Amino acid sequence: MRVTTEKERIAVLTIKSEIVRSAGAFLRSEGFTEILPVLLSPITDPLRHETYDGKVDFYGTPYQLTKSMIFHKQIALRTLPKIFCFSPNVRMEPADRAGLGRYLAEFVQLDLEVRDASRNDVMAVGEGLVCSVFNAVLDACGDELLLLGRTLSVPTRPFARHSYADAAERFGEPFDDALSGTLDAPSWVIDFPRRIREFYDREDPSRPDVLLDMDLMYPEGFGEALSGGEREYEPDRIHSRLDRDGIPRAKFSRYLEEVKAGVPRSAGFGIGIERITRFICGLDRIEDARLFPKAPGDCQAI
Ligand code: AMP
Ligand code: MG
Repeated sequence: MRVTTEKERIAVLTIKSEIVRSAGAFLRSEGFTEILPVLLSPITDPLRHETYDGKVDFYGTPYQLTKSMIFHKQIALRTLPKIFCFSPNVRMEPADRAGLGRYLAEFVQLDLEVRDASRNDVMAVGEGLVCSVFNAVLDACGDELLLLGRTLSVPTRPFARHSYADAAERFGEPFDDALSGTLDAPSWVIDFPRRIREFYDREDPSRPDVLLDMDLMYPEGFGEALSGGEREYEPDRIHSRLDRDGIPRAKFSRYLEEVKAGVPRSAGFGIGIERITRFICGLDRIEDARLFPKAPGDCQAI
């Protein structure tokens, strides 16, 4: 649906507020500590697709607006074992993504990371988080869901898993829309190939070029919900991943200094808040999932 009335806008924002509240409450109950976001840094997520960089002149030194807090999460785990953050990200995506209904140039992801965790550990956290948020919205926002004409059901756990290789064989690449369109409950895609993911997702030591990572896909064609995985943390492996991806080490020198000083082994993920709001509310366009939306390329946005 498209949001056209003030009542519908209020319903979406009320549900979004419950999503944020219940997600934080669930993670706290699981022993996580909330940290506050970093907006500016000389090191941010390189991403694997082209975006315009949010460059900021920081006292004469080039910094960037945060694309994700991946590196800061790893460093923060020296201090706290389980962290989460509602992290505003600026990713100036190509303007031709604006029509797809799921990209914003400014969005918020709930980003979390767990020291000494495996992929399975954080997948269990992801399943608990999604179910807990769906239950909370059903309990607290029945009238709002009714107004939006949305029926929501809580998935059963564990969620189904598909390997990237199997999905690619079945649907071709990229397969997000095709796979998501066939699902009737959130499902995992695991084991992405190295060639399409960032250097910090851990390569399986026993399967070269296969990563210990995952995406969660929403059903009904809503596409990707979250991405995450185990992380590389050993300096030699990180150097080799940068080299194999053709990324100059100098570009990440500040990060490599931190890695040399030691970052813990970890796994984690980031789940988009506007995307989960879009799914829960059944919205055609992600712009309707927040106030002051900035679609890629929309220079009239405020
Ligand atoms: P990533 O690790 O890049 O997959 O980002 C983590 C999550 O943030 C994704 O799974 C999405 O839910 C969300 N996300 C990423 N990029 C965007 C975007 N341009 N607009 C809205 N949400 C996004
Ligand atoms: Mg992703």
